[in-house]
Amino acid sequence: MKSLIFVFMFLPLFSATANWKSSESTHFRVYYREKMVDPKPILQIAEVFYAEMSRISRHISDETITIWICNTQEDFKAYVHAPIQDWAVGCAFPLSRRIIIQNPSQIMAAKLQIAQVLRHEIAHVLFGQYTRKAVKGIPLWFVEGIAIHFSKEWVPGRHKTLLSNVFTKSIVPLQELTEKFPVSQKGADLAYAQSQDALRWFVEVNSIETLWAVIDHLHKGATLNEAFTTVVGYDLETFDQLWRESLPQRYHWASFLSSSYVFWGGLSGLFLICYLITRRRRRKQLDRLIQQENRIDPFFIE
Ligand SMILES: [Zn+2]
Repeated sequence: MKSLIFVFMFLPLFSATANWKSSESTHFRVYYREKMVDPKPILQIAEVFYAEMSRISRHISDETITIWICNTQEDFKAYVHAPIQDWAVGCAFPLSRRIIIQNPSQIMAAKLQIAQVLRHEIAHVLFGQYTRKAVKGIPLWFVEGIAIHFSKEWVPGRHKTLLSNVFTKSIVPLQELTEKFPVSQKGADLAYAQSQDALRWFVEVNSIETLWAVIDHLHKGATLNEAFTTVVGYDLETFDQLWRESLPQRYHWASFLSSSYVFWGGLSGLFLICYLITRRRRRKQLDRLIQQENRIDPFFIE
């Protein structure tokens, strides 16, 4: 039954294949609608990132990775039940080496760059291929954290999201982000921000080589919990706890003040206060001058 659903899920994609144009490089093939995008820069970004990820890419099969650039929202929505769906801009099927990307204009409307989305989805495919023995059991926060970390993704607003949720004590335990992310945009934003920070903190505390050691254990088929216990000496539950304890120390009032909104808001508030004080002083000076002028000069008094 499962395989039947799988086939039906992909029917729209294959039945429409005839309308797709394609262009390929050494490791990638881009499918796109005519006159919609120039495939050359897409292939170039993909190949550069593939080479950057050589620590993984040299160990996996060099079978072509396909990238489908959708034209319409409908095209894209047809694949909504994808294993890894990156909030309306892209999705990746790591085991079948397929990436589906939203129309570039939609990506730009979401204030993201196509290069960034592309690198993120390719990171999913490469990581999924390398850890294929363990990939289905790896918690989603780790999978997303890895894609963000390796694609060097930067999304405006993620720092602020984390900061305000640390303040309001509404950080979600990582173990609640194991299988899926919240459906709401706000919940998903927080889940991505947390995944990014958890991986960044892991690397800061343990080093990038330790992260690679964990990934290599996954490659050999270990679960993430086993990999953590072997490599860093504590399990995922402990990591979850330590990471959450580290947040208030790293996202405190000073970093809150340095966050751009608060900083510029505070600065303009300060300017306003200075302006009001100066205006008051000037008014007082003026009043004094008027009073003096109104007084009759003793010289003219007879
Ligand atoms: Zn992702």
